[in-house]
Amino acid sequence: TAQKETLGFQTEVKQLLNLMIHSLYSNKEIFLRELVSNASDAADKLRFLALQNGDLYAGDANLRVRISADKDAKTVTISDNGIGMTREEVINSLGTIAKSGTAEFFQNLSGDQAKDSQLIGQFGVGFYSAFIVADAVTVVTRKAGEEKAVEWHSKGEGEFTLAEVEKASRGTDIILHLREDEGEFLEEYRLRSIVTKYSDHISIPVEMYKQPVEESEGPDGEKIPAQPGEWEAINRATALWTRDKSEVSDEEYKEFYKHVGHDWEEPLTWAHNKVEGKTEYTSLLYIPKKAPFDLWNRDRQSGLKLYVQRVFIMDDAEQFMPSYLRFVKGLLDSNDLPLNVSREILQDNKITQAIRKGCTSRVLKMLDRMGKNKPEEYQTFWNEFGKVLKEGPAEDISNKEAIAKLLRFSSTHTDESTENVSLEQYIERMKDGQDKIYYVVADSFEAAKSSPHLEIFRKKGIEVLLMADRVDEWMMSHLTEFNEKQFASITRGDLDLGDLDDEETKKAQEESEKEVEGLVERIQTVLGDKVKEVRFTHRLTDSPACVVVDDNDMSSQMQKLMESVGQ
Ligand code: ADP
Ligand code: MG
Repeated sequence: TAQKETLGFQTEVKQLLNLMIHSLYSNKEIFLRELVSNASDAADKLRFLALQNGDLYAGDANLRVRISADKDAKTVTISDNGIGMTREEVINSLGTIAKSGTAEFFQNLSGDQAKDSQLIGQFGVGFYSAFIVADAVTVVTRKAGEEKAVEWHSKGEGEFTLAEVEKASRGTDIILHLREDEGEFLEEYRLRSIVTKYSDHISIPVEMYKQPVEESEGPDGEKIPAQPGEWEAINRATALWTRDKSEVSDEEYKEFYKHVGHDWEEPLTWAHNKVEGKTEYTSLLYIPKKAPFDLWNRDRQSGLKLYVQRVFIMDDAEQFMPSYLRFVKGLLDSNDLPLNVSREILQDNKITQAIRKGCTSRVLKMLDRMGKNKPEEYQTFWNEFGKVLKEGPAEDISNKEAIAKLLRFSSTHTDESTENVSLEQYIERMKDGQDKIYYVVADSFEAAKSSPHLEIFRKKGIEVLLMADRVDEWMMSHLTEFNEKQFASITRGDLDLGDLDDEETKKAQEESEKEVEGLVERIQTVLGDKVKEVRFTHRLTDSPACVVVDDNDMSSQMQKLMESVGQ
């Protein structure tokens, strides 16, 4: 009697399915990781809701996921007793792509298969990866606390059907109708090995059915007793972050990252710490390799997964990381926060502040270590996230020095646009008698590199940092010194090169000034109000003149920035 309804996929889903099937054929087995990961998320969500309403368990609080294969029907079923989905949720989750950054992702597709398969790695795959191995997928799901169940079915070709069905218990069954040549996934050992490889860290049991064994006789005639068939966990099923650091392998950390970070790529690095004392918590923090598409989107969700005493509380708890570290992924497990903690409570809370402080300095230390020990990886990091980190000196005054250490710049030392010079390196190369860190900010790297203000510095062999990012000017307005060396913009006012000017040059300069006496006044008269002052300079060697700003005035970059935000 249940009427069946046919609905169309969002256009992007069709594109995604197509792309996935064609670009992931060499790594098909990941479909199981994605589906088990979803089942684990569903268990987390139920456990959280059950904190308020224990009835939701309906007598079954042993959350687990079960995998089974039917060789005759050629199906693999992944079945969980987690939160389940309502009809609405099914349509939203399995008919559209709810991920943020979707639009950017599709804009970036080039049509070139090789390139696009790289992109999909950054995007993450999720539920739709089922279609890599299945030519049809059935989902039967019943939301905890609801009577009705829904069946979703699709061949992955543009539409799906929905029908109301009976389901004895809450949770979700995903039934994969395998493609003709994917029979390997019906083999129990194959499924087991995939689970061990990708899902060992999942904190609920991942079970497979062990067939019963009849009573038999051993080689010496002794009786081997019969064993009943039973579901048996094939993963470790303990939350990874609760284990001792020394017992977790790099591989496990990396797989766990893909689960918590909803990322397909491996992380660059991570830090796992148990903090004891006044505030007690465990943090597992990862630096991704790739920036998400929507890193600059203001509405983007970011933050850590929050657990309280091992119970999942929320995704994207943004209160534990400052905004300039919003690319950090991972989780926090607090012993002190109450289980009924809400975003509002987190907002203004001593425990939150203490954890945030601890996590911030962990991340800064982790980056510092990477910069020292693995400069190439650090460069990858900087190229992806440097612009975000540049917001740091303005946002986090207490860590200014630590952040400054992490900054990388272009400079006249190499004249390359890659930002790879640290302030420590700059200081090491400073000339005798040089007491300032010189820099120039311009609209583009080319403009910075060919700034006429640089002439005297090039002549004297003094290194100058070249900056061209929109945030640079703003950042530099918050950085005054590093290692007790002042920063000095070479475009500002009456730049004093101090001890770097020797006596002889000073004399020569005075003489040349006499030679052109009166010129400055004449220019001043011609330009009138258009300028504040016309001044004689020794800073140019090839160009006849240049425009500078007064020490206390806004620089030209800053003026443009202010204009662009409507000031
Ligand atoms: P992600 O897990 O990154 O959100 P997926 O494509 O893997 O993306 O899943 C999409 C959404 O479908 C999930 O966010 C969840 O709301 C829903 N979903 C998928 N599988 C399940 C499941 N087994 N139980 C409950 N909800 C699920
Ligand atoms: Mg998922």
